[in-house]
Amino acid sequence: MSAGLPVVGIVGRPNVGKSTLFNRLVGRREAVVAPEPGVTRDRKAAEAAWRGHKFLVVDTGGWSPDGDTLDGKVSSQSERAMADADMLLLVVDLTVGITEPDARIAAMLRRSGRPTLVVANKADSGTRDDGRWEFNRLGLGEAWAVSALHGRNVGDVLDHVLELLEPDTGEALAEAPDPDGDEAASESEAPVEGESAVLAVAIVGRPNVGKSTLFNRLIGDERSVVHDQPGTTRDTIDTLVETETGPVRFIDTAGMRRKARVDADTEYYANLRALRAIDACDVALLIIDATVGVTAQDQRLAERIDGAGCPIVVLLNKWETLDAEQREGVLGELARRLHFVGESPVLRISALTGRGVHRLASAVEAAMEAYKSRAPTAKVNEIVQLAQSAQPAPGGARVLYATQAATQPPTFTLFVNRELPATYLRYLERRLREDLGLAKTPLKLRVRRR
Ligand code: GDP
Ligand code: GDP
Repeated sequence: MSAGLPVVGIVGRPNVGKSTLFNRLVGRREAVVAPEPGVTRDRKAAEAAWRGHKFLVVDTGGWSPDGDTLDGKVSSQSERAMADADMLLLVVDLTVGITEPDARIAAMLRRSGRPTLVVANKADSGTRDDGRWEFNRLGLGEAWAVSALHGRNVGDVLDHVLELLEPDTGEALAEAPDPDGDEAASESEAPVEGESAVLAVAIVGRPNVGKSTLFNRLIGDERSVVHDQPGTTRDTIDTLVETETGPVRFIDTAGMRRKARVDADTEYYANLRALRAIDACDVALLIIDATVGVTAQDQRLAERIDGAGCPIVVLLNKWETLDAEQREGVLGELARRLHFVGESPVLRISALTGRGVHRLASAVEAAMEAYKSRAPTAKVNEIVQLAQSAQPAPGGARVLYATQAATQPPTFTLFVNRELPATYLRYLERRLREDLGLAKTPLKLRVRRR
């Protein structure tokens, strides 16, 4: 019955939601659900259809009760799935983050060279979607935040499944009444602001730059209600602070509140925690000890924040101890060594005396505003068309249509008739950035051939 249909394999460690996704995929559009003869009992296979295209979904998630170790099972299950499938969905749990088995399966998938989409499941509401960036580290491209349980964003994943299975359908989709526009519309209607979205802030910096001092001052200043909250990543404690402008969650702050813990952390763990915090945050405060200057480690942290795509506010701390000459020296160093964060706000503060700290809230707000902004499709196209007539791309390449597909960070999809050179993409990025007033925020461009 299903002979010749392309096969989509679902892989992932236990409990991430593979079966739930399987049911969701085959349940949609009244697809025929029929167990395939010949598949072993620990595998489920059923036909599914999306936009008139049929394919077979295979969930290899059943665990035979033999003596295999969990690791062994995860590996052999994934191997089998890879052997049979035309493409794979790697399901991970957005609420947990990357675990060892996730990383192991991802490595196998990378080696296999099979087309793979990473599905970050349990994104039951938009507030968690940012967490999907963490999974970029699996090296399998951008992860899609979905809720298999509620069906959220599953349609977007299916669109991409079709694109990978049958490259021709990708074009058909692009010509169909603007699916990306629909995506944009439904995302923009998601109550990003209306929902009590808690701003997640990471305070990062080398040891002794003044993270704890700043954090305790921020709590004190707000005269706030403070409580502990289980962190977004394992073994972490966040601090939820009620401020006048709404709740703020400071990520992984246990060490900042109880000094003993951070001292017990080796540098290695401190670093790891910082990286995790960066992946989970909406905005990162990068503290630099102005008495020391900009070090290689500061540079690495800044690069990492930049890579995670979240806005950054640079804080030059202990500023009160520097004389005029030293101050100039540090600012020069900042411009030289952290030029790529040049657009980010830089505040000169003293966490110890509180000097300059009051400007932090508005700097964070400004950084977030650009980050969350969404431009109307007509405006985006106008900017792109103007940019193209001012300076056409070489070789007749053209952007036919452009839309902002996502926020946080602002992400633009460009539909092009053929490949655009990287230099030209940077030019378009610059124009979008300037004309939409996104100066202080990272942004992404996705290019689709049609
Ligand atoms: P599998 O072992 O990977 O096949 O995972 P299951 O599909 O059995 O799901 C494991 C657990 O996660 C179940 O309790 C599901 O109800 C739950 N789950 C699956 N998808 C979602 C989701 O999108 N959101 C939430 N909150 N829970 C989910
Ligand atoms: P952490 O390791 O990054 O959390 O750094 P701490 O907050 O523990 O600060 C390290 C040291 O720097 C402590 O001795 C602080 O008193 C001192 N410190 C923090 N902020 C300032 C500041 O603005 N000025 C001066 N002079 N010292 C500071």
